[in-house]
Parts: sequence; C-alpha cells; structure tokens
Amino acid sequence: MTQKLYLFDSYLKRTNAVVLKCEKAENGYEVELDKTVLYPEGGGQPYDTGRIGGINVIRVREEGECVKHTTEEPLALMQEVEVELDWQRRFDHMQQHSGEHLLSFAAKELFGATNIGFHMAALYCTVDFDKEFTKEEILALERRTNELVYSNLAVEITNVHIDALSCFELRKCAKGLSGNVRIISMPGGDSCTCCGTHVKNTGEIGAVLVTAQMHYKGGERITFAAGHRALAFAQQARGITEALARSFSCKMEDVQAAVEKLDTGLSAARRTNKHLYSRLSEYIAKDFRASSKKAGNVHIIVRFVDELPAQMLRQLANTLCQPGCTLALLFTQAEDAIHYTLCCSDGLEADAGELIQAVNAATGGRGGGRGTFGQGSTKKLAALGETLSQLEEYFSKALKSKSCR
Ligand SMILES: [Zn+2]
Repeated sequence: MTQKLYLFDSYLKRTNAVVLKCEKAENGYEVELDKTVLYPEGGGQPYDTGRIGGINVIRVREEGECVKHTTEEPLALMQEVEVELDWQRRFDHMQQHSGEHLLSFAAKELFGATNIGFHMAALYCTVDFDKEFTKEEILALERRTNELVYSNLAVEITNVHIDALSCFELRKCAKGLSGNVRIISMPGGDSCTCCGTHVKNTGEIGAVLVTAQMHYKGGERITFAAGHRALAFAQQARGITEALARSFSCKMEDVQAAVEKLDTGLSAARRTNKHLYSRLSEYIAKDFRASSKKAGNVHIIVRFVDELPAQMLRQLANTLCQPGCTLALLFTQAEDAIHYTLCCSDGLEADAGELIQAVNAATGGRGGGRGTFGQGSTKKLAALGETLSQLEEYFSKALKSKSCR
C-alpha cells in the first residue's frame, strides 16, 4: 500500500520515502514506495513525472492501493530516497483539471448540459457534453467560466464515507465508488467526486479559453486551454494574425475583411483563367491539327504542351479528337512529374488501354485506360523530345491500317 500524499496536498513537491519493491519491467523498473507525491494517471488527468533518488520516473500508474512508478534505473530495496515532482507539468495539469470542473459547472448551470467525458492530452484538453452548443452559447459559457475563475473561489477537498454522500449536492458522482469518497468543491461554484489534483483557489487557473468546438455523437466536443496553455494559444493566434496583417498591409482587426476580399478576387480570377485556358486550348488544337502527321486515315498528334495546366490536357485531347479519326497523345510537366493523356476519336479501331502501355514502356511511367481515353505519369525527364518522336513513329506504324467508323 502506498500513502498517496497528492490526494491531500497538490502543492507538495517532494517527500522522503522508502523503496518497498523494485522489479524489472518492459520499459525500465517498476518501483513501489511507502508514500509518494507523484500522481498516477486517472480521472482524465495524465500521470506526473519526476525523480526517485535522482532517477527519472517516466510513468506512474495505480494498481489497487499501490502506486507503481516506472523508473529508468533500479533502486535498492528498503533504501530511503527523495521523491521529487516535475512541478511545471503538475501545475499545468492542475490548471486544466480545475478549469474543466468550472467549465462543466457553468455548462450545467447555463444550459443543463452534462459532462460525459474528459480527456487531457499533452497539448490540448477536450470535454464532451450531452447536448450541442451554438457559437453564442460557447461565448456565454466562456464568460461564465472565467467569471468563476476571477471570483477566486476556494477549492476544498473533503473525504466522506459513501453512505454520507447523499448529504452533498454534487454536479457529478463517479460510478462504482465504495468506502471513503473524495469530493472537490468550490463553494459558490462546482462540487463533484474527483481523484485528481487541483489548484487552491480558482484564480490560479488564470483563464479558460475554448479553442475549438464540434458537434460530436449528438452532443458537443469542446477543446479548451487553461492557464499557461491559454496564454500560449493566445500568443500563437496573435502571431498568426500579425503575420497575416503584415502580408495584407492592414490592421489586425481588418484581416478577415482582407481575406474575404482576396477570396472574392481569386474566384473571379479562376473563372477568367478557365475561360482563357479554354480559348487557348482551341487555338492550340487548331495549330496541332494543322501540323499533324497522317498515317493512313488516322491523324497522329504526339506533342508536349507547356502552355496549359495538367488538368486542361484531357479537354485539349478531346478537342483534338473531335473531328474524328485521330489519336492524340499529350505530355505536360507538373511539379516533379510528367503527365500524359491519350485520347482516340470515337470509332477509331484502337483501345486506349492497350496504346497507353506503349507510352508506359517508352517513358518508364505508370498509367492505364480503356475505351477512348488513357492517362499516366512518369518522373523520367531526360530526352523527352526523342521519346516523343519514337512514340509518334510507333503509333504511325501501329495505326496505319486502322480505319474509322
Ligand atoms: Zn475531476
């Protein structure tokens, strides 16, 4: 059995203890002490880290009445050691956990919403509620929670027997409790059963900031940051907004309007671009057809196109094949790859799926197709002009005797 000092004093940063057990474990050694200041994971709060006799503790877990510490090195049995807590990590957990109690209390008070899940991760915390919230409700919830923070309510720990629990008005009571039960109460605010570590006065939470919200399983998942995390989030958000304001040469409060204006301009530019590309592809098609090679009845067009984006290639190939009895094979460069598109006119006795295999073989690329259309890409860039000539030659021979319906 381990005496759990953190249950009575969250601010106790070190203690002397005796090593009762030390066993080799998968990722170090599992050490049991007669008492500890290190909190094991539980109730949504992660474990503490610290040192025992100067040796790093990398995980702490609870097993029945015992607290098991995972250390990097073994410790001698019955030795008296100093147990030391990583205070910065612990205080962060205290700010988040006490913040979560106040947020949950405010949600119950304002909207009758019940907290049905709490998760504290290294960089964020989430609380799940059994009802959805609007944006306006989130703002009200944040305001009320921070009012409770600024009221600097005392945070009290009470231990009562389970039989006396009905005398207390609790927001939430954990399931499966027996024997002595621990209650965390903030007179004038929250009260619920809890095994976690908390600040002494709510003012130490600093601030509670909702950083995200999403409808989740018929309720709401709220991501929040308290204390130092809220400050870090606000600083990061300011940094991003400042950078945007610099880019737009505007004030921080005008960034949203500047982004909306840019977005409108971009949509208009995209529409113009599409129209211009469409017109350009008509001219390119005319030019390519005029200089196309003929094999028997079939026009063979094998070309590299650098005036159009890759997504326009299919449209150009279709335009080229419209007059009938044509094979169009077009290449273009996009980022680090070369894309190719192959198109046969309707009625040409050829299968694009088969023809594209010859392109794959010649370029070392990968692609496929069927019917009248095929496409692929390759990373190979060297001697592209020569490859295009070879492919034009190959298709001229292969399609020379083909007819068109
Ligand atoms: Zn709690």
